[in-house]
Amino acid sequence: MNTNRRVDLKIVILGSLGVGKTSLLNRYVNNRFTQEYRTTLGASILTKEIEVDNMFIKLQIWDTGGQERFKSLVPSFSKGSDGCVLVFDVTDQDSFYGLRGWREEVLLQTPLDHKDYPFVVLGNKIDISNRQVTSDEAKAWCAAHNIPYFEVSAKEDINVDHAFENIAQNALLQDSEWKDCYLTNSISLADNKTSTRQNCC
Ligand code: GDP
Repeated sequence: MNTNRRVDLKIVILGSLGVGKTSLLNRYVNNRFTQEYRTTLGASILTKEIEVDNMFIKLQIWDTGGQERFKSLVPSFSKGSDGCVLVFDVTDQDSFYGLRGWREEVLLQTPLDHKDYPFVVLGNKIDISNRQVTSDEAKAWCAAHNIPYFEVSAKEDINVDHAFENIAQNALLQDSEWKDCYLTNSISLADNKTSTRQNCC
């Protein structure tokens, strides 16, 4: 791999129970899907290494489980995250309405300006015909919050890679903006020091 820089990014995936978070991760990381239903018990972290813009990125994706009883864990999981994947099930309207709450929980934990924290919304299970959330409804909510929206299927492997690449790219952008900011401050502090010394001697 021809890369110049190596970056580790922490991404959290959130949404109601059963929307397909674990399945999406399994599809993205292992290119596998299983119909077997199982509850995610607590946190699991999956890692995938990708290359974006000539940079080697290690994505650490944290899956917290969507159950109400795990909601209290969300603050500690999302602390220090570089981006968040919000998932709903297009055949379950409540899971769509739940996005607002998940978004607010995450924003409580970020030091970034809320408009800068990278989110992506995934409307999953588009392979099923009885939709309860239309594409337009989901797009409108995402546009209102300035969040990219992807219609996906973990089962049929539709758009999953695109969605995760999008969050990686946007998280990377924020990451480098933070670092640029930090570097700029360091330089200006050093400059001040030098000039003080010069005045002194
Ligand atoms: P989580 O609780 O959000 O992690 O949801 P899971 O990944 O455990 O998925 C819940 C159920 O939805 C499982 O039975 C999955 O097989 C099913 N599922 C997940 N993604 C899809 C999809 O894209 N299409 C269909 N038809 N079923 C899916």
